[in-house]
Order: sequence, then structure tokens, then C-alpha cells
Amino acid sequence: MLQLESQSLSLLTEAVAHLDAGFAHLPPLDSAPDMEALRNVLLAVAERMRDNYPYPHPLYAGQMLKPPHPVARLAYALSLWINPNNHALDGGRASSAMEKEAVAELAVMFGWQTHLGHLCGGGTMANLEALWVAGRLRPGQKIVASQQAHYTHRRISEVLQLPFASVPCNSRAQMDLAALEAMLKQGDIGTVVATIGATATGAVDPLAGLLELQARYGFRIHADAAYGGYYTLVDNLAAETAAAYACLDRVDSLVIDPHKHGLQPYGCGCVLFQDPSVGALYKHDSPYTYFSSDELHLGEISLECSRAGASAVALWATQRLLPPVQGGEFAGMLADCREAALILAAKITADERWMLAFDPELDIVVWAERGTSASQISRRSRAIFAAAAAQDLHLAVATFPSALLAERWPQVVWDQENVACLRSCLMKAEHRAWVDEIWARLLRAANSITG
Ligand SMILES: *Cc1c(COP(=O)(O)O)cnc(C)c1O
Repeated sequence: MLQLESQSLSLLTEAVAHLDAGFAHLPPLDSAPDMEALRNVLLAVAERMRDNYPYPHPLYAGQMLKPPHPVARLAYALSLWINPNNHALDGGRASSAMEKEAVAELAVMFGWQTHLGHLCGGGTMANLEALWVAGRLRPGQKIVASQQAHYTHRRISEVLQLPFASVPCNSRAQMDLAALEAMLKQGDIGTVVATIGATATGAVDPLAGLLELQARYGFRIHADAAYGGYYTLVDNLAAETAAAYACLDRVDSLVIDPHKHGLQPYGCGCVLFQDPSVGALYKHDSPYTYFSSDELHLGEISLECSRAGASAVALWATQRLLPPVQGGEFAGMLADCREAALILAAKITADERWMLAFDPELDIVVWAERGTSASQISRRSRAIFAAAAAQDLHLAVATFPSALLAERWPQVVWDQENVACLRSCLMKAEHRAWVDEIWARLLRAANSITG
């Protein structure tokens, strides 16, 4: 295989045999599968799966997608011979212990001294849980998040029947703290969601300033770091961005998605609470001490019941190979992603043909071909997106409120409410080495439609 790594597959056979040896005392089971039938179906699956964008390849530089590390893929698959359920120790003893270890390492990564947390299906579930706890502690009070926060917060607030409001953004797509303060003066805000790496732009809300407001107005802070959380490990952030990350040890709750930047297969989000006593909210008849005991069943502190223990096994294995520590190999891979974004942004800025929409804070670049009006820019973005795909370069199109870009692009006529831009999530470490090739193909794509 040239594109899809499969060399590591042979290790799976060896590891399954090692796992199997642990159950050798049981009477043998005859479980020979019908190989021909399996083969037919599996090849049919492979045929169907060819109908996909080439996500693992660096020329896929569009949406927020990143291939799992081989060790995550293998550990996940290996654990499926047991198929543990991390709802309760009865269903997944080893994988529950591995989950607690892996989650504790994530809490340490953010500099937390104490934590209560667990894995869950993804960022949506994790944020649901954090806002559910926020609502229990601040009943009836408003949840607010920036206009560029993930849309899930508004919808989750609806599910939880909590009032929700959006805070305007500044021209860098960060929460505008002056606008927030005006809202705080009206009272009734119980929780502010700080987006640490906005999904569309990678913008990081100014957490230090938010903490100053918290000292005056007293609200909970929930950090949605689903996409950006791991960037706490790198040493090449802009000073302002790094200052926000340095405050993550002071938020009340935090969400990070190992399935976004943590090299995991889908189905791996994580919610963390700094105060372990919130565990008491999950189950009324359990005393707090139950939740800090070593015999904790993860289902006792989780809204989801049955859950893939495989996700915990994969994350544990990945963190064992690539510990989430500053200065480590994993941190270096993330720093390469950010470097790739900086290189692409510099090329865009240096070329009259293009306009950069935001200075990248993490590894997302948003730009457009120079144009006279929002409608013309939007048409060009969509045309270039399609022409790039014909060059095997896969970008994304993202739409922003025209008001968000009016300051940065003063010469544009804002003839419609939104403007479509090109967007690239450079989430693979390999993107750094491929950014010249991506640029060359982008120019070819743009030229192919200019004629
Ligand atoms: C992806 C994302 C979410 C939603 O998480 P899922 O894992 O897709 O459910 C929430 N917030 C932010 C900032 C995200 O990037």
C-alpha cells in the first residue's frame, strides 16, 4: 500500500495472541469464521469506503479531520476482542482503569491539581455534561458564548432549558469582552463559555481578561477546548494566545476532544471538572467520598451509560507512546501544524491576489481571493474550492458574517450578510512539509478558472 499505512497490522496478530493467552485456562471455543463469506463482505466494504475524500493524505487540508495514530487504531481494534463497556467496572475493568489514568494525564496537562472527569462520545456530549452541571449549580441563569462559539452551545442550552445568549466577536473572531461586560451589567449570567480554539477560525477567547471580569461579576467559566485544547503543549503560539492557555488551570470545567487533535478514532471526547464534588450531582444517593474512591464506576459520573471502552484503551496507548507533555514528540507534531498554518498565512499575505481573513492563532487558515464585493468573493471561494478538488487538493468553504470581516477588508462592498471564504485546517504534522505543494496546487486551481 502506498497511501494507507498497513505495515503495523502484523502487530495486531501478535497482540491478539498475547491477549488470548490470558484466557487459556478456559475450555476451548471453536470459533472458525467462514473466511470466504467474510472476505466477500470486507472487500465490498473496502469498495464502498473508496467513496471518500482522502482524509489521511496531507492534500486533504479542508475540514477538521485528522487520521488516528496507528497505535490508537491498533489498540482500539485489539480491545474489541474483549469489547469492554466503560459504563461499569463489571463491563470493563481494565479499560476503566486505563480511562482514569488517561483522563488524569489530560487534567495534569492543563495544570490542574484536582479533577473529576471521564471520556464520552465527543465534544457535544462533553459540553452537554459541562453545561448540565453549570445549570444545576446556577439554576435558571443564562449561559453565554461568543458568536463564533460552536453552535452546539445554543442547542444544548435549549435541551437543558437554560436561557442562552451570544456575545459579539471582535475582528479577530474572539469574544468581545466589552460587549460581554455590558451584558454582565444586566445580571443573570451564570456561565460564560470561553472558546479555546473556535471551530471555524481557531480563534482563542481572551481568557485572562475573562477571569478579571469573573472576579468582579462572579460567574462560572467553562472552557470549550474541544479542538484547541492540546495546543497548551506547544511553544510557538503568539504571546496573546499563550496567555489565554496559561489561564486554563483556573476554569471550572473544560472539554477537550481527543478525536480532534489527540490522534484518536471518533467517539472520544473528554469533560473535566476542577471541583470533584460536582460528582454528587450525578447521583443523589451517593456520598461524595464514593466519587473519589479508587473503585469508582465511571457510569456513576457520566450522563452516557454504555460507552466504548475501546476509546479509553486507544487513548491510553497513544499517551503511552506519545505522552501529552511540553517538549515531547506529540507537542512537536502540534507545533508543526501551527508552523504550517503560519507559512500558508505568510504566502497569502505576501501575494496581492489573496486576502487573509484572520491571523491564525492555531492551525486554521481562512482566506479568499481579492474581490470587490461579498457576493463576488463568495462565488470565487466556491469556484476555487471545486477547482482545487480537481487538483486533488481538498479545502473547505466557511461562511462568516460580513460584519466580522468589515474591519479587516475595508475596501469590500458588503452587498450580502455573509461572505464565503476558503478554510484549511492544517491538522497533520505532515502539512508542514506539504505546504509548498498545497500552495502550488491552490494557484493552479485558481488559474484554471481565471483562464
Ligand atoms: C468539534 C467541536 C465541538 C463539538 O464536538 P464533537 O466532538 O463534534 O461532538 C464543540 N466545540 C468545539 C469548539 C469544537 O471544535
